[in-house]
Amino acid sequence: MAHYTIRDRDMEKREKLYTLWGEDKINEKEMGLLRQKTKDIPAPFDAAGGKDIKTLVEAFLERDDAFGLAAPQIGISKRVTVFKNKNLYDREPVTSERDYDVLVNPRITQFRGETEIMMEGCLSCPDINVEVERYTEIKVKAYNIKGQKISRRYTGFLARVVQHECDHLDGKLIIDRGSRIQYPKEKEEFFNSIFQMGS
Ligand SMILES: [Zn+2]
Repeated sequence: MAHYTIRDRDMEKREKLYTLWGEDKINEKEMGLLRQKTKDIPAPFDAAGGKDIKTLVEAFLERDDAFGLAAPQIGISKRVTVFKNKNLYDREPVTSERDYDVLVNPRITQFRGETEIMMEGCLSCPDINVEVERYTEIKVKAYNIKGQKISRRYTGFLARVVQHECDHLDGKLIIDRGSRIQYPKEKEEFFNSIFQMGS
């Protein structure tokens, strides 16, 4: 899940980010991967799984524009995600491993409490924000980065971030979740053609 505005588009030395569309066209191949349901990483983690986890965490730590990142967003179709667990709106890159959670093979086991509607952005859906309804409390079972089984409870905005990231692992994106989609006026024609909302 992304900050609403992306401050820094200089991605030169970063892991390539998979997006549904570019400036003026759909990215068919990247869309195929983003739309795919990911595979579990074998536990205990094998070498390939460990490498994928490390690649994702490093890609996340390089960025200052993401609350979280899911493996498909860098082209890895595996069930792993990483996200900030505090100070979500700080625009400094995360450095301490206490400040982010890595969930391997996460499953949301409970949705609780109220639902809340909020605008969400996503690095894989550039230039748009979508109004998405999410639960305000969830419970998750997963493995942590060390391969230990964990249970976590997330509430409030963090619960939203985790639901967003877990959606990625099921091949779902914000455009599948929301009805109201916002995009800049100057890109109206392009997005109208994608979402078939215009005449
Ligand atoms: Zn996203």
